[in-house]
Amino acid sequence: MKIHCECGHVIHDGTDGLAHKGHVIPDRRWNELADAIDEAVETSDTPRQREAACMRLRVLLNDMARTAWQCTECGRLYLDNADHHLRSFEPRPDEDVRDILAGGSKGRA
Ligand SMILES: [Zn+2]
Repeated sequence: MKIHCECGHVIHDGTDGLAHKGHVIPDRRWNELADAIDEAVETSDTPRQREAACMRLRVLLNDMARTAWQCTECGRLYLDNADHHLRSFEPRPDEDVRDILAGGSKGRA
């Protein structure tokens, strides 16, 4: 998949683990996800149950998450809406937000 950014740069999405791609989970579904994880952990005793629970969680994640991509040149953010139409969000010109989807956290880059 390629996104032609409004700045002229082409955003590529051809592999996993991209630093300029993320997945957004709406807050309205956050507790549903947490409950599903709790249930998966609490009710999966056998390998077969764990495998089934993992599949249910993956289906749920694919259903609720919206994909986001960021242009590495201008920082513009592209996000699928609920109808899977791409919307763009432009950062303020005085802010450098180009690593917002990079996934860094304390102790990790
Ligand atoms: Zn751009």
